[in-house]
Amino acid sequence: MNLSGNLSRESIIRFLEGRGSDSELFEAARGTLLKSAGSGVFLRGIIELSNSCRKNCFYCGLRRDNKTFSRYTIPFDEVICVFESGYAKGLRSFLLQSGELLVDEHIDHVERLLRWISTNLEGVSMVLSMGELPIGILERLKKAGAHRYLLRIEASTQELYEMFHPGDGLHEYDDRLRSLQTIRASGWQTGTGVLIGLPGQTAENLADDLLFMKEMDIDMCGMGPYLEHEQTPLWNRRSELGQWEEREILTLRMISLLRILLPTINIAATTALQTLDPEGLEKGLMAGANVVMPNLTPIKYRKDYNLYQGKVHVEDTLDEVLKILENRCGEIGRDVKLGSPGDPLHFTNRMKEQAGGWTE
Ligand code: SF4
Repeated sequence: MNLSGNLSRESIIRFLEGRGSDSELFEAARGTLLKSAGSGVFLRGIIELSNSCRKNCFYCGLRRDNKTFSRYTIPFDEVICVFESGYAKGLRSFLLQSGELLVDEHIDHVERLLRWISTNLEGVSMVLSMGELPIGILERLKKAGAHRYLLRIEASTQELYEMFHPGDGLHEYDDRLRSLQTIRASGWQTGTGVLIGLPGQTAENLADDLLFMKEMDIDMCGMGPYLEHEQTPLWNRRSELGQWEEREILTLRMISLLRILLPTINIAATTALQTLDPEGLEKGLMAGANVVMPNLTPIKYRKDYNLYQGKVHVEDTLDEVLKILENRCGEIGRDVKLGSPGDPLHFTNRMKEQAGGWTE
């Protein structure tokens, strides 16, 4: 099937509703990936640095009002140990993830970690995912050595976004959008993503999410199925949710369609997808994903980073995870690219274009 990056909204909706051939869609996306970005699978080691958050999103287990678990921040020395052992195994990209915290202590902690990495480990690409940060803080963290920022829009349709966030002035759609635009405009490799399978979400909403990402011209995407958590307000709407199989197939269609729309970006096969299905990793990669994010958080903290329930690999060590990943990727003809930060080709091309009128 010949599908191009100019897919119309109607064609996207047709695929999302299952009115097209899934196998042909996945094959077309895979072909696009192999032609545009190659067969490599890049690894980002995730460190869930702190599970504290000032926000109260209706779908998230880390929300401020959930008092059923302990809050933690991993101390400096423990994070350094993780960086060192990950680096020794060939990882060249780490993602520092936390809830949204604007307190000085947290920002200073992240800045110090970034400076340590820049000084001590060569050739590492640092990714941050810490919510909406003011421009001054973003600049500080960029100067300290961060390269990429991931801020999920979660739902690009404003009405849907507002349905899943409190209307308390702290969760404004316009603020989120502005924050993403600021990141994109200030030279970061920019990532976003959405939740797939939310109650009340339509194929039209998801098509608009994909077109939003194309319009934003993002470099990276981490989008996964919505997984319910009983300590959140959205748990009350669980009877409206599709079965896991439906959310999985929708996620795979979203990955493929995005790969066709933006051939050279990095797209993750998320842990949430792997939680839905033991073969979610292979299926995500076969649908067009090219990034996997092994969890490097020290095991004692992992059970308390519960964005959703049932997360996989919470007990696996880095050695075990890497071995499993290499075997599983190898079985589907894909090779794990250790020793490479795996910058998205889309960003590299974008920078060349800005520098000298070069076009992709
Ligand atoms: S989704 Fe992010 S900002 Fe919202 S409550 Fe969870 S960690 Fe905080």
